[in-house]
Amino acid sequence: MFTLVPDFRFKTFDEATAEFLIQNGIKGIILDIDNTLEPYEHPLPGDHVKKWLCELKAAGISAAFVSNNGKERVELFNEELGLPYYYKAKKPFKKNILRAMSDIGSSRETTILMGDQVFTDVWAARNAGIKAALVPPINDKKDIFTKFKRLLEKPILRKYDKKKGKSVNE
Ligand SMILES: [Mg+2]
Repeated sequence: MFTLVPDFRFKTFDEATAEFLIQNGIKGIILDIDNTLEPYEHPLPGDHVKKWLCELKAAGISAAFVSNNGKERVELFNEELGLPYYYKAKKPFKKNILRAMSDIGSSRETTILMGDQVFTDVWAARNAGIKAALVPPINDKKDIFTKFKRLLEKPILRKYDKKKGKSVNE
């Protein structure tokens, strides 16, 4: 069923450990950059990002970047990492998600997209028919548009919590 409720919520990206992903049958991860791995104002990936990506790689999980941000931002961020990447990706459209999946050779069943926005990232994952993991934005913008967007996300996140709460009691 089409739902914008994510499959998983994490407090930070690296809560999704290689072990957890493997246990859930994940072999490929499509990553948002801004406010998922680093805030907008950090041009390069921090050590915690590099360490986590190394651990995923060691566990046989392939990663790719699919960002709606521009060429310069994405290429500089990825310079040292050298992962497949797509910029100006127009999420929630699925085209570049599918391209990235083909680059890393992962199927719908074994791929997860991780991002910080329900109406961009989770929706893109659904359009591509893959799993979705949501993290809270690292340093959220304070403008009225962003605040409104977060307000719209709230009932969806409540649904997630309700669903997870129920499954714990089952
Ligand atoms: Mg983002």
